[in-house]
Amino acid sequence: MTEIWNKKVPMKISLFAWCLFRDKLPTTDNLTKIHILHPNVHLCVGGCGLIEDEKHLFLSCDFFSAIGGMVFLTGLVIN
Ligand SMILES: [Zn+2]
Repeated sequence: MTEIWNKKVPMKISLFAWCLFRDKLPTTDNLTKIHILHPNVHLCVGGCGLIEDEKHLFLSCDFFSAIGGMVFLTGLVIN
């Protein structure tokens, strides 16, 4: 886990990786757990009908695997 805090890795990438590994990304599932979103909106915003958590977004969602991952990561690198 300490490898993500390497000086050669941009801070925003390290922070994103830390959040990903700690299950702290603002997915609808996590936002529901901390009562920011209503419990009935914890499903994937891609419209697939499954619970939106990190594993779903990056590994199993057809919608985000098609476009989301690359757009999101590109945004991290550009900004
Ligand atoms: Zn989905």
